[in-house]
Amino acid sequence: MPDAIAALPHLDLARLPTPIEAAPRLAASLGVANLWVKREDLSGTAFGGNKLRQLSLILGAACADGADTVIATAGVQSNFCRALAGSAASLGLGCELLLRGSIAAKREGNLLLDHIFGAAVSFTAATDPWDPAIRAELEAMADRARAAGKRPAIVQLTGESAALGVAGWVLGADEVLAQIDALAAAPTHMVVACGSALTLAGLALGFKRSGRGPRLFGVSVQQPAARLRAWIVAAASQGAARLGLDVALAEDDFDLVEAVGPGYGQPSPEAIAAVRLAGRRQGWVLDPVYTGKALAGLIAACEAGQIPRDAAPLFLHSGGAPGLFANAAAFGENA
Ligand SMILES: *Cc1c(COP(=O)(O)O)cnc(C)c1O
Repeated sequence: MPDAIAALPHLDLARLPTPIEAAPRLAASLGVANLWVKREDLSGTAFGGNKLRQLSLILGAACADGADTVIATAGVQSNFCRALAGSAASLGLGCELLLRGSIAAKREGNLLLDHIFGAAVSFTAATDPWDPAIRAELEAMADRARAAGKRPAIVQLTGESAALGVAGWVLGADEVLAQIDALAAAPTHMVVACGSALTLAGLALGFKRSGRGPRLFGVSVQQPAARLRAWIVAAASQGAARLGLDVALAEDDFDLVEAVGPGYGQPSPEAIAAVRLAGRRQGWVLDPVYTGKALAGLIAACEAGQIPRDAAPLFLHSGGAPGLFANAAAFGENA
């Protein structure tokens, strides 16, 4: 581990290492010889998931700076905000969330958990995460918190927190590399759902730094792949600069496909089918917003021969199960 990473303030929010398991019954459905899964959904605090490695560094830095309140924004069913709210509760920090959605949003899934973790929830009418109005609202929340004598820290994965978010998964790459030598078939690809794509950026940077590891196969669930590719390279370079790594990611260091479907946060028929398949074949709980779309992307890539029959994909189960319970209607179970 480079000294710059070791020197970062770090909290132990995640139970690590998360296991890598074989998924033989799903492998047979996909028609590949081997399929592995990294069970990041088992990472612990507040239903776990891929955000905890990032929050261990982001909240580590905030606590080291003396923050007593964290402020963040995302969609109403955000796994990130739920993991942040649960982590903040465990650390005794205040948590204020500005969610895209309406006050009338049903308190279910992640939003129910935000309230259970004691977060102060407010809503914004802005629908585009990059709307500058959202940033202005966050700054106003921070000003109000300071006026009330608090020491707030804004946490924004696509903003000031990006470098540490990438760093969390550079460490995750080292963990994967330490695990895969013991597997019966070396993983050839690592399949990852991409939202902000800091997870993929960190993994790709970590593997490239070590000169080995599976090829990253990202499935974009939010943005057009062309736009996301450029952001991944930019985010990786922010992470590398922060860590003092002399490694640069290029756009051809990873594959990226799109499985956005009807829109971000909206289940597609392929994602619903993938959630059902993983449930029936392996007893996994995927969600229709991230991991279900990622598995749908893997299935499509296997069918198209983009991932060959003799490959051994490693699927990142990045968590997100609470979102499933906010999407029950999409499964037609309540008709
Ligand atoms: C946020 C999230 C992702 C995407 O991670 P990024 O680093 O934002 O690309 C994938 N799966 C789940 C369950 C998530 O909550």
